[in-house]
Amino acid sequence: MIRLIGPDTTAAAGASLARVLRPGDVVALAGDLGAGKTSFARGLIEALGFSGEVPSPSFPIVIPYAPPELSLPLWHVDLYRIDDPEEIEELGLDEARGDSALLIEWPERMGSMLWPDALRLTIERDGDDARRLTWQAPAAWEGRWPLR
Ligand code: ADP
Ligand code: MG
Repeated sequence: MIRLIGPDTTAAAGASLARVLRPGDVVALAGDLGAGKTSFARGLIEALGFSGEVPSPSFPIVIPYAPPELSLPLWHVDLYRIDDPEEIEELGLDEARGDSALLIEWPERMGSMLWPDALRLTIERDGDDARRLTWQAPAAWEGRWPLR
């Protein structure tokens, strides 16, 4: 567990993931509305080199990033508005994994379609001014998360 005190700390936690993220990785970012998922994503995407505004991808559901703006191809995905698993298949996430990293908000919407090798992060409120970051790191993430 990591305690995140203030939004900048959430972004810094996202930024730390940039050091170990590779194409083909899936990072599932769970948490309620307002937990801080997009703040974490912003920290990561900026640390990968993006210098513009990082919008929330609730609409459109997928925002793709690629070099040279970012050091690696990354899809920022927000499944909040998805209610039919078939819609998820149409997004082509499986194919995207072939060359891109995937950062997925509301991964709960994928149910058992979420890949077992995904790094599962959860952000929860911890009072008004802090959050708790917890995770389940499968073998694919051994030695990469949590960061030492
Ligand atoms: P989500 O994408 O999970 O809906 P956001 O990233 O949009 O959430 O963040 C919602 C709010 O939470 C923002 O106002 C953000 O500044 C705030 N926030 C993020 N992390 C923290 C933190 N560690 N402590 C306090 N507030 C935070
Ligand atoms: Mg969000």
